[in-house]
Amino acid sequence: MGKVLIIGAGGVGTVVAHKMAALPEVFSEIMLASRTKSKCDAIAKKIGGNRIKTAQVDADNVPQLVALIRSFKPDLVVNVALPYQDLTIMDACLETETSYLDTANYEPKDEAKFEYKWQWAYQERFKNAGITAILGCGFDPGVTSVFTAYAAKHHFDEIHYLDIVDCNAGDHGKAFATNFNPEINIREVTQKGKYWENGKWVETEPHEIHKPLNYPEIGPKESYLIYHEELESLVKNFPTLKRARFWMTFGQEYLTHLRVIQNIGMAGIEPVMYEGKEIVPIQFLKAVLPNPGDLGENYKGWTSIGCRIKGLKDGKEKTYYVYNNCSHEAAYAETGTQAVSYTTGVPAMIGAMMYLKGLWKKAGVFNVEEFNPDPFMDALNQHGLPWHELHDVNLEFE
Ligand code: NDP
Repeated sequence: MGKVLIIGAGGVGTVVAHKMAALPEVFSEIMLASRTKSKCDAIAKKIGGNRIKTAQVDADNVPQLVALIRSFKPDLVVNVALPYQDLTIMDACLETETSYLDTANYEPKDEAKFEYKWQWAYQERFKNAGITAILGCGFDPGVTSVFTAYAAKHHFDEIHYLDIVDCNAGDHGKAFATNFNPEINIREVTQKGKYWENGKWVETEPHEIHKPLNYPEIGPKESYLIYHEELESLVKNFPTLKRARFWMTFGQEYLTHLRVIQNIGMAGIEPVMYEGKEIVPIQFLKAVLPNPGDLGENYKGWTSIGCRIKGLKDGKEKTYYVYNNCSHEAAYAETGTQAVSYTTGVPAMIGAMMYLKGLWKKAGVFNVEEFNPDPFMDALNQHGLPWHELHDVNLEFE
């Protein structure tokens, strides 16, 4: 059906490649390209069957990207490198008139800021070129945004309150490790908290607001209000929302390590001089922390991510909770990665499938909640991320 170029051979790229390779009727030709070609080759070898071509590319370099896209001629580029590469890859897609999909919004390297403004600025140019950009198609953002769109379409006349709840109840057996790229992860969880209420953003100190929330099949876990990028597009696309918040679970051990890392300056993103050479502390830290892609082998337990929504249906107040629980062990058995990479890579594959099937294809730049959620929700059930819904339950809002 279509040709796809995956950029980035980390934990998420591994899952995307595995899942696409298993669907030859949709993904007839697949190329995996990244900074380090040997990593692409290792993934391709593990998948076998000559399903995956590989290439080396520096995704910070637009001419290199353009040359690769021109030689392979994909229908879609799936960007699972780092958020820093979003704009260069979008530039290369524009130049070659190729559609684009990613899982995380652009961030400048020198400023930890999660905003869609840089990518939304491509709207006119993508529209004029007649190509599609699908933004934020992982789990959160991604599935959580589709869950919200599905709830708004089928279960509510108006949605008023949204809590996105993200629990990782897994144990990888390491003293400290991050579940995806450490640099991006630590930048995200150490920033100030922020939520939407009554038409404006309310800022909090990092981890200032927290409480135990009950997760299905898992039980209570201390959950911290943090800012997460899908809140920005969801409050824009669902203007009836009076409040939108994002909660993530952290263990005490994790938070203690994080506090020490911050206090000693290792989370810094400004370069410092070390033995006559400039180094960025958080990049050095990444080099000594466990590789998130290697955590899978001993990872036990579950993730549980979902949306808790309150609003109006037929003039009456209604509550709704839609979620997926994913097992680290099952994710590892299928793809050799843990559940955080799995829950990101599977939706990226499904988004690519939606595009190639013509179900999510329109000219311009879109967040995933702007497309029809129904075929995506069906595909989640078929491809390893089944979801469950609960009606009229206590959403633990207060
Ligand atoms: P990893 O760090 O494991 O992998 C990133 C990959 O990108 C590596 O293979 C790396 O190459 C490659 N890369 C980095 N810079 C370049 C470059 N300039 N040119 C070419 N390749 C490059 O990250 P993850 O797989 O954990 O995460 C991938 C993406 O998924 C990130 O953007 C992350 O923010 C996003 N994500 C989204 C989630 C969601 O739910 N929406 C959840 C989790 C992650 P090398 O191997 O040489 O270092």
